[in-house]
Amino acid sequence: TAAAGGDEMASVKTYFETEGASRWKKIYGDDEEEVNKVQLDIRMGHAQTVDKIVNWLDSDGLDGRTVADCGCGTGLLSIPLSLKGANVSASDISGPLVEEARSRASAAGAKSATFEVSDLESVDGKFNTVTCVDVMIHYPQNKVDAMIEHLASMSEEKLIVSFAPNTPYYSVLKRIGELAPGPSKATRAYLHKEEDVRAALKRAGFRVTRDEMTATNFYFSRLLEAERA
Ligand code: SAM
Repeated sequence: TAAAGGDEMASVKTYFETEGASRWKKIYGDDEEEVNKVQLDIRMGHAQTVDKIVNWLDSDGLDGRTVADCGCGTGLLSIPLSLKGANVSASDISGPLVEEARSRASAAGAKSATFEVSDLESVDGKFNTVTCVDVMIHYPQNKVDAMIEHLASMSEEKLIVSFAPNTPYYSVLKRIGELAPGPSKATRAYLHKEEDVRAALKRAGFRVTRDEMTATNFYFSRLLEAERA
């Protein structure tokens, strides 16, 4: 919808339905031959983020809880949450990634997870927990504000979001990445100021209850868990 997206959403969707789908299936896969060193590093960093979220939610109890995993990709978070007893409604803007998530979930025996193709602004319903992991990097702050407002409206208890933090160090790193020769990264990456993300959560009636930072050589992601204030 217009509220979340406009131009970014259309181009992000196109990317994740074409070359982005195969690139991220590899990065989020488990074959070590298929990926280069940078992609392997991103895979490992991302796995750390997933583990942190699963541990948080598991320690609070997952059995019978409802989770909306928005922008679920290949299901790397949805599947373990389902295996631990949550009822997971996962969605992603990319048809091919949703298909991949479905087949991985069925191979893993994650029966309490459903997957649908949808941009996150169009998802509705009420859930104990809403998660949106490593999605906001594709959108500028004004879109992120709208996304957080919408995600918060679907959550009765917890909201978990991650983003690439805008700090002087990471801004320089991003600049270097953009200047480096090599295949184009195909989508723009946006860094977000933590204070802006926290302000959006606060406006939506949530207070931050846990935070984490995951950084490897090429992957960096700030993770916030918030609860209804
Ligand atoms: N959350 C997953 C994970 O952590 O394994 C996937 C992260 S991947 C870097 C970003 C995902 O966001 C892609 O699967 C992409 O298709 C999805 N995406 C991008 N924009 C979206 C939107 N507006 N609504 C829903 N999904 C979106």
